[in-house]
Amino acid sequence: MLIEHYDLEVFTPPCDPGAERYAALARLTADISEILPYLNATLRGAVYLPEAQALTWKKGGHNIAFHAYEIAASNVEDREGAEKELKGLIDLVNRTWERRAEITPDHTTRQRPTPMAVYRLLPQTNCKQCGEPTCYTFAFKLTAAQKKLADCPPLFGPQFAEKLAALEAIVIEAPAIG
Ligand code: SF4
Repeated sequence: MLIEHYDLEVFTPPCDPGAERYAALARLTADISEILPYLNATLRGAVYLPEAQALTWKKGGHNIAFHAYEIAASNVEDREGAEKELKGLIDLVNRTWERRAEITPDHTTRQRPTPMAVYRLLPQTNCKQCGEPTCYTFAFKLTAAQKKLADCPPLFGPQFAEKLAALEAIVIEAPAIG
């Protein structure tokens, strides 16, 4: 197990003291830098910055940051959710550490696709079946990992097969970490 001990702090970010959103920070006693390339290889949409020994990731609208001695989650709805998110991330790190022999580490920095790049591959009919008013709003939420490709039923028609394959290659879809 890589992370055995940590101190957990849940707070409202100081830049926004009256906000309804919460952040959580785990201060670690172990250096987790070594696991970051493995997380980079397995977390879709993660952005790894080797020179800063940092990896950022969006999961369900939450902003996640992994550093050598810290893991942070922000933009979480409530205090309990922030604590649960952090504990899930610590489990994710420990599980990835245990599986590292099966993973090829990725030391590159991948860029997230822009909403416009994603929009160009959508049906662009604004049919609202995804629950969003426009395809562009859907594209925006897809890049923030707040929606999944499966939320757009028309995309699975045969006429969009090529575009769907292109989207599957670039889009951020957060895996479950619980
Ligand atoms: S379901 Fe797909 S095609 Fe329809 S509005 Fe949403 S993104 Fe656009």
